[in-house]
This record gives sequence, structure tokens and C-alpha cells, in this order.
Amino acid sequence: MTTLYHDSDADLSVLEGRTLAIVGYGNQGRAQALNLRDSGVSVVIGNIRDAAHEEAEADGFEVRPIAEACADADAVMLLVPDEVMPQVYAEGVAPALRPGDLISFASGYNLAFGLIEPDPSLDVVLVAPRMIGVGVRETFVEGRGFPCFVGVHQDATGEALPRMLALCKGIGATRGGCIEMSMHDEATLDLFTEQGFGPAFGRVLMTAVELLVGAGYPPEAVLVELYLSGEFAYSLEKMREVGMMKQMDFHSQTSQYGSITRGARFLAVDAPIREKMTEVLEEIRSGKFAEEWSGQQEQARELFERIRAARDAMPMTEWERRAREAFGIGDAG
Ligand code: NDP
Repeated sequence: MTTLYHDSDADLSVLEGRTLAIVGYGNQGRAQALNLRDSGVSVVIGNIRDAAHEEAEADGFEVRPIAEACADADAVMLLVPDEVMPQVYAEGVAPALRPGDLISFASGYNLAFGLIEPDPSLDVVLVAPRMIGVGVRETFVEGRGFPCFVGVHQDATGEALPRMLALCKGIGATRGGCIEMSMHDEATLDLFTEQGFGPAFGRVLMTAVELLVGAGYPPEAVLVELYLSGEFAYSLEKMREVGMMKQMDFHSQTSQYGSITRGARFLAVDAPIREKMTEVLEEIRSGKFAEEWSGQQEQARELFERIRAARDAMPMTEWERRAREAFGIGDAG
């Protein structure tokens, strides 16, 4: 059964007289800290000495070393990148927490795959916005909300749920709607979108580009037709607003007839896509991916550099640059 929470389920007074430490003043940390402060919550920032530290001070927050900020707080939102989180947690956060404190994660990854195991005396919750940091702030300022995946992973005090919901209300998530799930399910859905859906979609797009350019159509026109004009993004937005099938009503009858009659031909590629997606899903669920990634992080920087260099050398990158320039899109606009 799906459990959903909205504003009326949450009570901000649970956080009254309490101090909340936000560790990491980056994409999520800054947005959530500003929203919580505007919601009347007392927030202190725990951060290393870097540009984010200065930004937090410029935004008017008290900024302290991570361990100090956590030691004086009743609740901690750990908002550093997932890759460094186990080390930051072990060195700066865990030793500073006291029984009954609450620790909140914006991603289930490290708990789902056993890379962080909080002490049983703590309340441990998931508050994972389905929104980039800038959007978390913008939607809050505009009075709207955003969807969020939430869950109580460990309830030491018996108060973990109201405490979690108060945090959700403070950042603006209960305005949009919070759906309950485990850390493992949140991490799995997130990773599957990145590793299954995204790459499969990317291959379809690349196949179409290669086919059309190979058939002699100007690359700039192909890219504008497929996605650079923004028409495709508009259809996705309509899909979000009215539904995948119903958004077809916004297209011409020629478009509808063509996609319905030709669409069935592509049922033939369902089976191989499903097979690859199942492999990816199984690797995520079993923890195989997390184990592999933990062992690869030292080498990853070099891999990313090689991929960036290869990407810069791809014809597609040059085609996109030319198309953006020709049509005044993005920076070229
Ligand atoms: P960021 O990459 O923006 O980093 C957050 C902060 O952590 C930065 O200030 C960064 O400093 C600091 N930091 C980096 N390395 C260390 C370290 N070794 N020790 C201490 N601080 C460090 O993170 P995000 O906000 O993107 O992600 C935070 C959490 O939110 C993650 O769990 C992520 O999965 C989750 N999340 C992120 C979303 C997003 O939109 N990005 C969406 C939903 C959830 P510096 O800038 O100097 O590197």
C-alpha cells in the first residue's frame, strides 16, 4: 500500500527549541537550509573550509566545523556527496551524535548497501527530494512544493516519524507530497533511472541521430528536430501534466496516426531492452553495483577524464555546437 504525506500530516512545532545541523552546504544543503530557516527552524551549518563555507556565511548562517555543528544539534541532515558520506559520517558526524538524536539522509544509497550503519540509539530517516537543489529553493519561494521520497529507517525514540515529517514540512516537501519507502527502494529507483532508463533512452536517441545524419540530413536540422528545439521537452512536460497517452491530443492527426500505426513495430525491441534492464536492476538490488563502485572510486577520476575527452571529440558534440549557434540556443542565444 502506498503511504503519502502532505502538509496536514506534519507539525513544525516538533522542531521548536531544537537545533538542526545541516552538514554540507552544496546543491541540496543550501536550498534546504534556506527553506528551513524561512520555516522558522534554528539551523547551523557544518562544513569544511571551502567556497561553500563562505557562501553559507554570506547567506547569514553560523558555520562551524562538522563535528562541532553535530555535537550541539538534536538533528543532523547529512547533505554531502554520497561517495564521501561514509568517511564524513564516521569521522565527523557519528562520534558527535548522542542517543536520541536524529540523522537524516537525502539518498538511501549508503544505508541500503551497508556502507553506513548508524548506532541503534539514533533515529534515522530518509528525506530525499525528487528535485535538484535549485528547484528545492525556487519551488519553496514560489509557494509550491516538490515530490519527495521519505521513510523511517530506524525509530529509537518512538518520535522518528513526526520528526521526519517536520523536516519535510520545513523544506517544503509536504506541500508537493511525500511518498513512503525504504532506503533500499529509494536507492534502487534512483540508480535504475541512471543505469537502466537513461542509457536505454540515450541509445534510442543516438540511433536516430546516426540514422538520419547517415541518410544525408544536415546534423543541425536533425538535432533541432529531435530535441534541440525544445518541442520534445515540451511534450515531456505535457506528459507530466496530462499523461503519456493523453498528451498525444496536442499533436496533429498525421502525427497521431503515424505514431500509432508505426509504434507497434517497435514492440520487437521490448524483449532485448527488458533483458538488459533486468540485468541492471538485479545488479543494483543485489548490491553488486555498490560493491563494484566502492572498489572503483580511486580509478574513477581517470575514467571520467577519458570519457570527457572522448565526448569532446565526438561528431555529435560539434553538431550540437553548430546547431546551438545557428539557432541561438543555450549559451549561443
Ligand atoms: P554536493 O555535490 O553539492 O556537495 C555538498 C557539499 O558537500 C559541498 O559543500 C561539498 O563541498 C561538500 N563536500 C564534498 N566533499 C566533502 C568532504 N570530503 N567532506 C566534507 N564536505 C564535503 O552534494 P548534493 O547536494 O548534490 O548531494 C547531497 C545529498 O543529496 C546526496 O546524498 C545526494 O544523493 C542527495 N540528493 C542530491 C540531489 C541533487 O539535486 N544534487 C537530489 C536529491 C538528493 P565542495 O563544494 O567544496 O565540494
